[in-house]
Amino acid sequence: MKVFISADLEGVAGIAAWDETEKGSGAYPYFADQMTKEVVAACTGANLAGAKEIMVKDAHDTGRNINPALLPENVKLIRGWTGHPFSMVQGLDESFDAVAFIGYHSAGGTNGNPLAHTMDSSALNYVKLNGELLSEFRLHAYIAAYLGVPVAFLSGDQDICAEAKRVNDNIATVATFEGLGSATQSIHPNRATELIKTGIQEILTEGLSSNRVELPPEFSLEISYNFHGHAYRKSFYPGAQQTSPKNVVFESRDYFEIVRAISFLI
Ligand SMILES: [Zn+2]
Repeated sequence: MKVFISADLEGVAGIAAWDETEKGSGAYPYFADQMTKEVVAACTGANLAGAKEIMVKDAHDTGRNINPALLPENVKLIRGWTGHPFSMVQGLDESFDAVAFIGYHSAGGTNGNPLAHTMDSSALNYVKLNGELLSEFRLHAYIAAYLGVPVAFLSGDQDICAEAKRVNDNIATVATFEGLGSATQSIHPNRATELIKTGIQEILTEGLSSNRVELPPEFSLEISYNFHGHAYRKSFYPGAQQTSPKNVVFESRDYFEIVRAISFLI
């Protein structure tokens, strides 16, 4: 069994503020360490379920947060960013048997996490797909669907767990915390790692025959920028249409074209 794990930081146990996510900040090392622990827990659970190979994509900011020395030896770690449009699941292909998401967070424009955002959010008001605010989880779960790889597991804030269940009710989830305005109410970090380990082990052992994510037949991507000049410039992407001073829409029936558009429009 080959398992792919995409790991972010804004959904690990206890995190509550931006400085805790930024390399160079005094608050960062503790949370990078917790991210590593949660990824180690996921890998351990996958190995207990019989994984032979695991690929981990470090998918937060620089892509260089996880301590590689602490991972099990059958793990390959992708650090940094290739520039491939698959972004937070770059390296994923049809040869994998399952995908898991660790440390994921609520979409930009939602209230489930003080750090709620979608991709590089500084220039963006919101990103919607088919009329709904697009989470990084849904964006990348649909890539798994595009490749035919089942989505097994997600850990992160309570609202992104609920979003995973909306995408496919059979995805196993572990809520590390609940976001309350600018605060988080978190379970103990050790409890989070224990639940992640057993949660992944259980779902991979049970089997993933019901864990394929269904792709919508067509896609309408709407990006709302904070600055109208960005929208004007981005509207020259092939097929994009500027629908208002700050908004650009791109439509396709091919999900890869949506992913490609996101990598150039955001
Ligand atoms: Zn992140």
